[in-house]
Amino acid sequence: MELGNQKASSNVEDRRGMGMGKIGGGLGVGGLVIAVIAYFLGVDPSVVTEVAQQVAPERGGSQQEAPRGAPADEIGQFVSKVLGSTEDVWGAIFKRSGAQYRAPTLVLYDGQVRSACGMGQAAMGPFYCPGDEKLYIDLAFFRDLQTRFRAPGDFAQAYVIAHEVGHHVQKLTQKMEAARGGSKAEQNRTSVRMELQADCYAGVWGHHADTLKQLDSGDVAEALNAATAIGDDRLQKQTQGRVVPESFTHGSSEQRMQWFKRGMDSGRPQDCATFSSGSP
Ligand SMILES: [Zn+2]
Repeated sequence: MELGNQKASSNVEDRRGMGMGKIGGGLGVGGLVIAVIAYFLGVDPSVVTEVAQQVAPERGGSQQEAPRGAPADEIGQFVSKVLGSTEDVWGAIFKRSGAQYRAPTLVLYDGQVRSACGMGQAAMGPFYCPGDEKLYIDLAFFRDLQTRFRAPGDFAQAYVIAHEVGHHVQKLTQKMEAARGGSKAEQNRTSVRMELQADCYAGVWGHHADTLKQLDSGDVAEALNAATAIGDDRLQKQTQGRVVPESFTHGSSEQRMQWFKRGMDSGRPQDCATFSSGSP
């Protein structure tokens, strides 16, 4: 990526090295909402729900303030600039449709983090919490992306951030559908549609970042490779040796790649209609 001219976002909370337990969550969000927060990786949402219910968010109490603003270190600067780019792009898109974009906050943490949605753990991968409108990113995941998932490259990392920002856009546009009721299979289908839409929104951002000359040749290939690496079929094959499509929560490698590409090609959020009939 070429982010030299990009202004770094100041909507960053650096909780690295702060440990956990001192930062109160505040809002109590029901477990069902947790189930559709849609973690980036193929974690079974019901597992996450259970974890969230066991450790209820802290209410009130003393809160330690995390430093706000773009961190000075290289990776901190990188994520802040990518976030800044998403703010510019989505700000312009919302403005064109007569709306105002409310930027989310990106929280950098290590190990474990307390959010308005309950406890977050690095093992779950990056996530978005609609209750506090924050994206939670453990930088160890970027290393995993490179080594464990064999998806290197700065644009692969940017795609992860843009995907979580995509969930925030869903919240702002009321597309975040709670998978309430229904069978497990139906809930999983809703989850897949949400995730693929977030992939498509990441592509929409990528399209405009390209227009702003922020992409290098090879960047799109990095994102497509990352999308493939974290498809449910690929992950299931790696972890359990077989593929069970009914249990997909994020979509197959092919689907994730296709929807990212669709957003990347068109740059229009309207083209990310994963909830319309026949899709995905
Ligand atoms: Zn997601």
